This record gives sequence, structure tokens and C-alpha cells, in this order.
Amino acid sequence: MSVLRKHLFDLPEGVIYLDGNSLGPLPKCVAGRVAQMVTGEWGAHLIKGWNIDGWMDQPARVGDRVGHLIGAVPGSVVMGDTLSIKVYQALSAALQMRPARRMILSDSGNFPTDLYMAEGLIRHLSHGHDLKIVRPEEVMENITNEVAAVMLTHVDYRTGRMHDMAAITKAAHAAGAVMIWDLAHSAGAVPVDLAACGAEFAVGCSYKYLNGGPGAPAFIYIRPDLADQVDPALAGWLGHAAPFAFDLEYRPAPGVARMRVGTPPVLQMTALDAALDVWEGVDMGDLRAASIALSERFIAEVAARCPGLALASPHDPELRGSQVSFHFTHGYATMQALIAHGVIGDFRAPDIMRFGFTPLYIDEGDVIAAAEILGRILKDRLWDDPAYHARQAVT
Ligand SMILES: *Cc1c(COP(=O)(O)O)cnc(C)c1O
Repeated sequence: MSVLRKHLFDLPEGVIYLDGNSLGPLPKCVAGRVAQMVTGEWGAHLIKGWNIDGWMDQPARVGDRVGHLIGAVPGSVVMGDTLSIKVYQALSAALQMRPARRMILSDSGNFPTDLYMAEGLIRHLSHGHDLKIVRPEEVMENITNEVAAVMLTHVDYRTGRMHDMAAITKAAHAAGAVMIWDLAHSAGAVPVDLAACGAEFAVGCSYKYLNGGPGAPAFIYIRPDLADQVDPALAGWLGHAAPFAFDLEYRPAPGVARMRVGTPPVLQMTALDAALDVWEGVDMGDLRAASIALSERFIAEVAARCPGLALASPHDPELRGSQVSFHFTHGYATMQALIAHGVIGDFRAPDIMRFGFTPLYIDEGDVIAAAEILGRILKDRLWDDPAYHARQAVT
């Protein structure tokens, strides 16, 4: 069944948006809901809003809605903070679960902040942990019984290459390691069955394919049978069993709620909660089929029109997430020219042009038009204009 529902999004006229993998566009229902929250809840109810408007339960309630899209059972996901913080929490908890082991295994396809957070944690623990970074294809053979935690991003942010979540989790468990998946480019992009794969932890953000808006809160999942054993490194008052008892000692809340830290970002979470309405009735299998059809069509159109571009993503759609990337020496300038011509993708150093496929609001006509415009920019060297070479802070 078609999952296309462009009418639910506020997309600027004349723009083909192939960057929903980086910042999802604005669903139409968000602005009204946020305005209502600001004036009708915050403005009218003041501090009473924490109780009467359910602000305090938002992280768990919205977490369940996200959990539904990634195969997590209700009560196993909670929202809050940024993804970098959630990586830190998951990794510190995982290391505590394997106190005799000292190795963290990750790969060079991981997003830098995940690796930086691991390095920072290692330095501050001072227990002699090591972060081993291997190439993505070498992960399996490096899962040994020295590994405390395998920490990977499921879909590579640059190339879209997708790990086999079930197989790697199985190998991690066979070696006695804890598995942490970063689903930043998976949640809302590809079907994920967290409960079936048995991973201990998963984390992700909600401003990419979930369209929660810039700065929308991250999520963290703990496998339900383990949640009560996790000892939170960031022992904030809202992860306490009884925050309003104001005890001097920390006692973690039952379950994944212990991964809450401080006051939730109610405005952002309201925007995300509204944005999640666009997923009502979407079958993730249908979404995946549509995403593959779009990305295959784009690759074919680009191959026909742009001989100078080399596919940086796997050719086999089963091995890709919901994005397609190309290597091109003049990738930055070409992307700037594309954006000036109404096709928005993005650029990742050193030479990757990246396009996200989001079947809720992108259709075949968009994909063909985008490839046509890209073909024209390359053929006529429209990218070779000083205006397109100046680097901005966010690429
Ligand atoms: C987008 C992304 C992040 C961003 O982290 P923030 O803390 O939200 O800025 C982290 N990790 C991965 C894998 C990502 O794709």
C-alpha cells in the first residue's frame, strides 16, 4: 500500500527535499499543536501543566510511540537529551555489565560523536578500556570474548551501508558481549525489530526521519529484562524512583525511566509528539518497499545522466538504508548548485553527496526531476561558480 502522504507536510513550493535523513521537514500538524501547548498549557496553566497536561509523562508516552516504529515493546523506550548523551549512558551501562572486559568494538562507519563519547567515557573511567575501531566489513571477525560492548550505528550516515542487525547481535551475544545499536538513520527509515534481535541497548535521534524538528530529543531503549539492573552513570533527579521525595541519596526509577536525567524539553517533545501523527497507519514493510523503489530509480537516473559520479552506497538495496550517496570531487559545489536549483541534499566531507529517500513525502516524479537537475548542473558545469564554493558552517 502507498505510504505517500505529502499533504501532511509543509514543504516549500518548488523544493525537492532529499535531506529528511538529516532534518525532517515540518508536518502540518506541528505548528498548531505547539502554539496550543504554549498558550493553552504553559500560558494558561503555568506550573500546574506538569500535572494536568501530562508534561512529566511525555518522555515515556512519546517513547512508546517511537518504540512502536522500531519494534520495541511499550515501556522500553524513553525520550530525552541529545543522542550523544544517550550514547554515553548506554555505553557506560554496558561496560558496567561486563566488568571483567576492557574492549569496546566499533567501526569506522560510526558517527564521530559516538566515538568521541566513547573516548571521553574511557578517559574518565580510567579503568584501562580500549576503543577498537575496525572497518565495517571486519566487525564480525573482531567480536571476540575480550569485547565488553559492540557499539555500532546500524545505517552508515555517509554511505547508507546497513549492518545485519540480527547477525551481529547474535555474534556479540555468542561472545558474551553487550550490543548497542545506534538507530539514528534507521528509526523511521527501515524496519527495525529490536525485540526480536535481543540487543541490550539502542539509541537514536528524532529530528531525522521522525521529523521532530531541530533539537528534538533523543531516545534510548533498554531490553526490558535488564532495565532494572542498569546503574545509570548520569544519575539525574528525574531518573530517581521518587524525584519529589527530594531524598539526598539516589535510587534509580524502575525500568528505562532511570535513563531520564533532568527536566524534559516539553516544547520540543510536543512538536515531536505531533510529528509522530504522520506515521499513523504506515506499514514499515510498505515504507521499505517504497524507499527501495525510489532509491533504485534515482541511482538508475543518475547513472544515465551523470557519468562522472561514483556510487558510494552499496549497489544491493538490501544492504542500504534509506539514503544514496555519490563520490564526486566537486561534490560540495555541486550540492550548493543543486540547492540553488531547488533540490536539497547535503554534503559530507571529503567528497560525498548525500540524498535521503523518505517515501512519506517524496515520490517518483521528485526523484526523476532531481536527477534531471543534477544532470544539467554537471553537464553545463553550473557548479563551477565561486558562489557555490564558499563553505558554510553546516554542510
Ligand atoms: C545524527 C547522529 C548523531 C547526532 O547526535 P546529537 O547528539 O543528536 O547531535 C549521533 N550519532 C549518529 C549515528 C547520528 O547519525
